Amino acid sequence: MASNKILLITGVSSGFGRALAQEALAADHTVVGTVRSEEAKRDFQSLAAGSAYARVLDVTDFEAIDGVIAEIEQSVGPIDVLVNNAGYGHEGVMEESPLSEMRRQFDVNVFGAVAMMKGVLPFMRTRRRGHILNITSMGGHITLPGITYYCGSKFALEGISEALGKEVKALGIAVTAVAPGSFRTDWAGRSMTRTPRSIADYDAIFDPVRKAREEKSGKQLGDPVKAARAMLAAIASDHPPAHLLLGSDALTLVRAKLSAFDKEIRAWETVTASTDG
Ligand code: NAP
Repeated sequence: MASNKILLITGVSSGFGRALAQEALAADHTVVGTVRSEEAKRDFQSLAAGSAYARVLDVTDFEAIDGVIAEIEQSVGPIDVLVNNAGYGHEGVMEESPLSEMRRQFDVNVFGAVAMMKGVLPFMRTRRRGHILNITSMGGHITLPGITYYCGSKFALEGISEALGKEVKALGIAVTAVAPGSFRTDWAGRSMTRTPRSIADYDAIFDPVRKAREEKSGKQLGDPVKAARAMLAAIASDHPPAHLLLGSDALTLVRAKLSAFDKEIRAWETVTASTDG
């Protein structure tokens, strides 16, 4: 595959999407980024005339996605890499958070990403090449109280990525679920939706988590530019991973989870194995 690629990245106005777009442009790739306003479109295209293209698209506008992708294929060129980056965090105790918030969380983080994948797959499959990166989260492997809908959406996207990878590998298409730890983006700031508190029974478990997140916002360990470089390394690889953790926090927490999971499996192994026959 040529080293200069066409990347389609959702959500390039800030954070990981913006950093990845800028690093990819600096590495001579062509980037088509999705944004949600005409102003953001002009702003993005001004980054690099002739290689930075923007399209206005909300990823929950499911009816529009196939047309936007077909138009990009025709006017910009073959999409080598799709990066499903657009997403946000919902914070709120599950019992307090309306189902409508869960639907919105899954519409953006899961259904939007799947609709984008379904849009590019016919083209990638015909060419027998392509790479899809889904930005999940360490919250797609480990969980915290107060972000149940978010973790649910990211676990879903992890599972979908892994299973899809098995469906399309023989067709020349790779799928990588990228799971970042905590990074300095707008995620915990302007982008987060927070359900108001209503049940005092959850104060003890939830309030410290919300406070810690608010205090940490803007001072997280991870640098999105370094995450962008790591993603470009995965994009350049002949054998991209099915899962890529980003950040030492993600590494430590996911390893601890796997080891606790293994311990629990062992503790209950006899019961588990007792149901055969
Ligand atoms: P961010 O700076 O808030 O960027 C989010 C981007 O997604 C923005 O460009 C936003 O566009 C776009 N977006 C949100 N909803 C959208 C929708 N319905 N349709 C189209 N675009 C939409 O935060 P970020 O951290 O870079 O987030 C990128 C991804 O990383 C998300 O999937 C997030 O869950 C994941 N992630 C972040 C962290 C972290 O610590 N930062 C950790 C793990 C995973 P607007 O500007 O128009 O709102």
